[in-house]
Amino acid sequence: SHIQETVLADENDTLHLGSRFAQHISPPLIIWLEGDLGAGKTTFTRGLLNALGHQGAVKSPTYNIVETYSFNQFDLHHFDLYRFQSPEEWLDAGLDELITSDSVVLIEWPQLGGDLAPPADIILNIRINENGRTVRMIALTATGKHTLNKITE
Ligand code: ADP
Ligand code: MG
Repeated sequence: SHIQETVLADENDTLHLGSRFAQHISPPLIIWLEGDLGAGKTTFTRGLLNALGHQGAVKSPTYNIVETYSFNQFDLHHFDLYRFQSPEEWLDAGLDELITSDSVVLIEWPQLGGDLAPPADIILNIRINENGRTVRMIALTATGKHTLNKITE
């Protein structure tokens, strides 16, 4: 189905979900990461990047807005719009240039980009609850559905 929901009991589960995405993503792909501070958006991204072969740390790009990681098959841009005062900052910072057909894009706090943030193929909405986290994964495009089906099969 185009909506999947799963419980992530601990940090390892969040990292593991990221690693499952790593096996099935290919460009162009845009993933929105929604959820409160501390929900696990960056943790998910770290699980994904480590599974792709990134060895170093994954810092939250809160201050520089975007971190780019280069792999053999594609570049991955990890955005964090948390500090945006207005959606126009997306254009001011020239971020549209990074949204190309050969990149994979993850965006934390996409709603702060308003209409200027690129539309998602997949939204991950992470909620904090007594069982750890619940993540709802929503595919919005054919690419998103194809990708999500492989990840959750
Ligand atoms: P965000 O980027 O959404 O602000 P972070 O990934 O930086 O959140 O931080 C998430 C915090 O929650 C980390 O301390 C991490 O260890 C913890 N965490 C991640 N996933 C889970 C989970 N499924 N259950 C409980 N704690 C988690
Ligand atoms: Mg974060």
